[in-house]
Amino acid sequence: MMTTDGRGLYVHIPFCLRKCNYCDFCSFNLSDVDWRGKYIDALCAEIDSYKDRNIAIDTIFFGGGTPSLLTPEEFERIWGVIKESFVILPGAEFTVEANPKTLDGEKLSVYKSCGVNRLSIGLQSIHENELKILGRIHNFDEFLDSYSLARECAIDNINIDLMYGIPEQTMDSFRETLHQVLALKPEHISLYGLILEEGTPLFNKKEEIAFPTEDTECDMYYLAARELASEGYSHYEISNYARADRECRHNLKYWRCEEYIGVGLNAHSFLSGRRFSNTDDIASYLSDRSASVIVEDSADFDRESEFIMLALRLSEGLCFEDYRRLFGKDFLREREKQLKLLADGDLVNLTSNGLSLTEKGFYVSNSIICELI
Ligand code: SF4
Repeated sequence: MMTTDGRGLYVHIPFCLRKCNYCDFCSFNLSDVDWRGKYIDALCAEIDSYKDRNIAIDTIFFGGGTPSLLTPEEFERIWGVIKESFVILPGAEFTVEANPKTLDGEKLSVYKSCGVNRLSIGLQSIHENELKILGRIHNFDEFLDSYSLARECAIDNINIDLMYGIPEQTMDSFRETLHQVLALKPEHISLYGLILEEGTPLFNKKEEIAFPTEDTECDMYYLAARELASEGYSHYEISNYARADRECRHNLKYWRCEEYIGVGLNAHSFLSGRRFSNTDDIASYLSDRSASVIVEDSADFDRESEFIMLALRLSEGLCFEDYRRLFGKDFLREREKQLKLLADGDLVNLTSNGLSLTEKGFYVSNSIICELI
């Protein structure tokens, strides 16, 4: 397993112009937010608390929420504190998540001057009816404007988020989304199956809406895998495809169990072998963040299961030697029969060094992982 020198830094921006109908992330409607200024103050204070610890960072990820809603001044202020508080290693990957309709030339030139070198834009679908059902705030033309603007501002590493399993989505409409997006030649594509999260508006209306069948969803998944492979994208993680050397280095840290620091509401950290997270209660975060930090009890936390689960998300898979070094056990010997059956079913690639899921295995990864942990 390849590891890197620095740690990752995740910065959470918990507001969106309007909450999407499927979203259960920690984010608020901007119109309900009267604490924006206080949040930036608290976030900067939290970042500043790492000062003088000489922590090296080689990936930065502004996620949310919608980080592209930050004004240029807010963005520069947060970046200023980051620079003062951490050692930013040369060549660090610096990603900002953006929504179409929230980007403009001024913001992009501030991103460039702060060192942002990767943009992740949420599109999901090119079709108006699908975007409307999802409650997205943009249409495809607005996405295209944002994408071209980013290219004009010389952002040469762009991810586009897509979704399958959207109500009213058909094979044809999904194929069209895929083709239009491939024509733009982004460096990275994230493709997620829609998950109905309890409590979301989409979940509450699920009986009234026509979803694609499971078979159609499966066909969409394989169509994407085939077409993306033929266009030179490697399927390096269950939901992520990248051109050569354009994998998201920040997210790789999570999947490879490397260390990272999360700042902001509900942000999680893994630092010096310890896992902890900030509260998801905005009032507590704003009044006394450090008093509301939740430290994970390592007795409750199954590191072994987590290692297996995360390693198998990646096409590089699980290395038996890493597993033996970390847990003192022989993965292959303990599961020899199961692994043989999975390999016979073309669900896993099995070598004497390690194990990874096949394309077929990726699609049913949850059940394989449950079987192996
Ligand atoms: S833009 Fe992203 S974070 Fe914001 S509501 Fe939509 S899905 Fe959630």
